[in-house]
Amino acid sequence: MTDTPSSWRAATRMVHAGSERTPYGETSEALFLTSGFVYDSAEQAEGTFTGDIEHYQYSRFGNPTVAALERRLADLEGAEACITTATGMGAVSSALLSHVRTGERVVASRALFGSNYWIIANLLPRYGIETVFVDGGDLAAWREALAVPTAAVLLESPSNPMLDVLDIRAIVEAAHKAGAIVIVDNVFATPVFQKPLELGADVVVYSCTKHIDGQGRVLGGAVLGRKDWISETLQPFTRNTGNALSPFNAWVMLKGLETLAIRVDAMTRNAATVADFLAGAAGVVQVRYPGRADHPHRDLIVTQMTGGGTLVAFTVEGGKEGAFRVMNALRLIAISNNLGDSRSLVTHPATTTHMKIAPEERAHLGISDGTIRLSVGLEDAADLIEDLRRGLAALAPV
Ligand SMILES: *Cc1c(COP(=O)(O)O)cnc(C)c1O
Repeated sequence: MTDTPSSWRAATRMVHAGSERTPYGETSEALFLTSGFVYDSAEQAEGTFTGDIEHYQYSRFGNPTVAALERRLADLEGAEACITTATGMGAVSSALLSHVRTGERVVASRALFGSNYWIIANLLPRYGIETVFVDGGDLAAWREALAVPTAAVLLESPSNPMLDVLDIRAIVEAAHKAGAIVIVDNVFATPVFQKPLELGADVVVYSCTKHIDGQGRVLGGAVLGRKDWISETLQPFTRNTGNALSPFNAWVMLKGLETLAIRVDAMTRNAATVADFLAGAAGVVQVRYPGRADHPHRDLIVTQMTGGGTLVAFTVEGGKEGAFRVMNALRLIAISNNLGDSRSLVTHPATTTHMKIAPEERAHLGISDGTIRLSVGLEDAADLIEDLRRGLAALAPV
C-alpha cells in the first residue's frame, strides 16, 4: 500500500490516501471488477476462511477497489474505519439495523431525508423498536426524549430541504447520557465542511451518490466510525445481508474524491452568490442558506461548519403554482430530485421528496408550497443567476 505520511495535507490525501498499486505500477487505481478470488491451494482457502490468512474471498465480503475507497473515505473523515454500501440508504439502514434490537429505542430529528424518515417511522417499529421524533432545533425536546435509556440517535444537519442546523455537540451530550450512539447523516454538509466525529458523534453516514461521486453517475453509501463498532457490529450485518458496493462504483468514487474539495468549494461559492441574488430578487419571499448571515442558526453554524454548502432553499410567491412557473421557465437548471451534482438541479419538495408527509407536518418543518430546493452545481454563477431571473420573471402575470 502507498504510505500516506501524516504530514500530508487534506488535498494531497484525497488524491493519494488508501491507494494500493499492483506490480504493474498503474498511475490510476486499478479496477478489480471481479466477484470472486482464487486460492493457490486448498490449504490457503481453508486458512482464509479460518481467518489465519489474509486473502480476499468474495466481493460481498471485500474487494481491493472497494477497500481503497474505504481507506480514503476513512482518511478524509478522520475515522478509524469505514464500510461502503450499495447506496446511501444501505448505509443508513445498516447502521441502524446492525445496532438496535427489539425492545430498544431510537430517537431521531423530524426533518429527515424521505427514506430515513420511513425507516424510523415505519420500519423500526415493525421490529418492536420504539421510535421517537423530536424537532431538531429544540434542545429541551432532545433532553426529554433522551431522559430514558436509548440505543441510537439519527440526525441530519443541515436538514433536507429547509437547511436547519442542529447543535450536534449538545445532542451528543444528551444521547451519550442515555447510552445511545449518535449517527449523523452528513450528506448536506459534505465531509469538506463538517466533521461530526470531531463534534462527538459516533457514526457518520453518507450517500456517496451525492457530492462524493458528484457527477450524477453512480449510487453508493458509506458508514464511518470506530474500528470496534465497524468490525464487530456493522461488518457482520453488511456482509451477510448483501449490501455491498460495486467495485465499479467504488472506482468511480475514488476518482470523485480526487476532486471533491475543489468541486465542493466551487459549488459553494456559486451557492453563496446565487443565494445573495435570490435574497434580493422580486418574487422571493424567503431564502435559506447556511452561508448567509441571516440564516436563523447562524451562531451555531460558525461553530460546527466551515462552509455554507451547496444547497439553497427558497420560497417564491404564489405557492405551488408560483414554484411550478419558476421551475418550468428554467432552461439551464434542470428539474431533478438528486443533489450534489456538478449540474444545478431544482426540486419542489412539497410535491416530490416530501409529498408523503402530511401537509400539517410539512408546514411544521417550514416547507411551504412555494418552496424550491436548489442544488447548485459547477456552472458559471452568472449563467445560473440569468436562468433564475428568467424563472422568477414567469411569476409576473402575463
Ligand atoms: C440521497 C440521500 C440519502 C440516500 O442516499 P441514496 O444513495 O439515494 O440511497 C440519505 N440521506 C440524505 C441526506 C440524502 O440526501
